[in-house]
Amino acid sequence: MNKDSLLITGIGNSRNVSRYCFGKGSITQLSEILNSRRSSSENWAVFLIDEYFDRHSEPLGVLPVESTDRVIHIRTDVEPSTQFIDSLVCDISVSHKMLPVAVIGIGGGITLDVAKATSNLLTNGGRAEEYQGWDLVKRPGIYKIGIPTISGTGAEATRTCVITNEKTGVKLGMNSDHTVFDQLILDPDLTASVPRNQYFFTGMDAWIHCVEALSGSYRNPVGDAFSAQTITLCRKVFSDNEMMSEESREKLMVASYLGGCAIATTYVGVVHPFSAGLSVVLGLHHCVANCITMMAMELYYPDEHREFMGFVENQDVPIPEGVCSQLSDSQFEALYQATIIHEKPLTNALGEQYRDVLDRSRVRQIFEKM
Ligand code: NAD
Ligand code: ZN
Repeated sequence: MNKDSLLITGIGNSRNVSRYCFGKGSITQLSEILNSRRSSSENWAVFLIDEYFDRHSEPLGVLPVESTDRVIHIRTDVEPSTQFIDSLVCDISVSHKMLPVAVIGIGGGITLDVAKATSNLLTNGGRAEEYQGWDLVKRPGIYKIGIPTISGTGAEATRTCVITNEKTGVKLGMNSDHTVFDQLILDPDLTASVPRNQYFFTGMDAWIHCVEALSGSYRNPVGDAFSAQTITLCRKVFSDNEMMSEESREKLMVASYLGGCAIATTYVGVVHPFSAGLSVVLGLHHCVANCITMMAMELYYPDEHREFMGFVENQDVPIPEGVCSQLSDSQFEALYQATIIHEKPLTNALGEQYRDVLDRSRVRQIFEKM
C-alpha cells in the first residue's frame, strides 16, 4: 500500500442526506412524511419498489399509496442500465400531466439507485447517459425518499447512483449533490427477509469500502472516523454467531449508512476496480463480485484478507470460485481494461504509477485466482 505518501486532506463542501429516521417499525412514518408533501389531490407520488416485495408485501405493511400514485416494481436480476432508466422515466412522464411530488425508492442498492436517477431525470430532462460523471445534474430532482431493505452498499447515503450504459459499457454514476436523498427511513425490520448469503455479500460492501478507504493515501479525518466506526460495527456483526439477529441487523443498517458517508468523502482502493471488471465483463453483481475479489487480495490487503476469510468461515457463506477459470485471452484483456480504467481508486491505493504495479500479467494472475 501507499501509506508513505499519506495525504491528509480536507473536504470541499460535502452534502449529506437532509433528514432520516431510524428504528424498528419506522416505515410507518412514511405516511406522515409523504402527506406533508401532498398539498392537493392532484399531487401524486411514484413508488419504486424492489420486485421481491411484489410477491411478499407483508414486511412493508400498508403503504400510503393514493389512487393517483404509481407503484412500479424494479427488477433486480440485472443491475440498472441507462436504457432502463430512460424507459422508466418516459413511462412515468407520460402517465400524468404534472410532475410527481416525491419518488420513493424501497429496496436494495439497485432500487435506491434507480430512484435517485429517476428523480434527477424527471426534472432535468434528456437521457441518463448525459449525467454519468461528476456534477452534470443541473437542477434538484423530485423530492427523494429512500427506504433500504438490505444493508451494506451505503447507496442510501452517497451522492451517486451507479448505472451502466449498455451500448458503451460505461458503468458510472450521476455524481452530484442533487443525487443525495432528501429523506431516509432506516427500518431494520425490513432486512429480516434477506437471504443469508445475499445479506453477507451486501453487508461486506460496507466493510470493504472502509478498509479500502483507510488503506488509501487520500484521507481526511471525517472520512476516517466514519470508516473506523463502520468497520467496528461490521466486525461485531460478522464475528457474531447471529449475523441476522435483530441487534445485528440494526448494527449493519447503521454501518451501511456510515460507510456511505465515508465513501462520499474519499475513495475506495484495489478491490472495487477488480470487482467492477467482474461486473462489466462477466455480469456478476457488485457485492458478490467484491467478495470474489477479496478472496484474491492477499497481496494488497494481507490483514484484511485474513479477517475476511475469518468472516466467511464464521458465517459459513459460500463465495463462488473458479469464475475466471475458463476465460479466453480476449476476456482477460477486457477484464484488464475494465479494471485499470479506475484511476482514482487505484491511485489512492497504489500511487500515480499504479499501471507499473498492476501490469497486464499481474492483473491476469489476480483474476486467475478467482
Ligand atoms: P440489490 O438491490 O442488488 O438486491 C439484492 C437482492 O436482494 C435482490 O434479489 C433483491 O430483490 C433482494 N432483496 C432486497 N431486499 C430484500 C429483502 N428485504 N428481502 C428479501 N430479498 C431482498 O442489493 P444491493 O446489494 O444492496 O445493491 C447492489 C447495487 O448497489 C448494485 O447495482 C451496485 O452498483 C449498487 N451500489 C450503489 C452504490 C451507491 O453509492 N449508489 C454503492 C455501492 C453499490
Ligand atoms: Zn461497493
